[in-house]
Amino acid sequence: MKREEWEAICDKCGKCCYEKVDLGGGIIRYLDEPCQHLDTETNLCKVYGIRQDAEPDCIQLTEDLVRDLGWLPEDCAYVRYMRHQDTLAAVHSAAVHKKRSRNSKRRR
Ligand code: SF4
Ligand code: SF4
Repeated sequence: MKREEWEAICDKCGKCCYEKVDLGGGIIRYLDEPCQHLDTETNLCKVYGIRQDAEPDCIQLTEDLVRDLGWLPEDCAYVRYMRHQDTLAAVHSAAVHKKRSRNSKRRR
């Protein structure tokens, strides 16, 4: 997927740009404190093009990171996208497995 296509998935809700604390046991609590670079009127980053330089904690999301991070909001568009992709992959894999199994039974 091209970079622009990946970026277009984000619905720009700004939720991931708020401070959060890890309470353990997979529980993440979001605080009311936004990143200093978040425009809370528009929910857009004011330094998006240079965000990693402006905010060292800010990360560039990738498919693997979205799967692994565990602190993105449940309704984050990337989280929903990756769940959808993983479901499609699982359904495809199950269909291939079923077809192979059927073919191998026919050969016996
Ligand atoms: S620097 Fe990063 S965390 Fe801060 S507002 Fe911009 S995108 Fe969000
Ligand atoms: S929570 Fe997800 S959809 Fe919302 S701004 Fe952050 S990356 Fe984009």
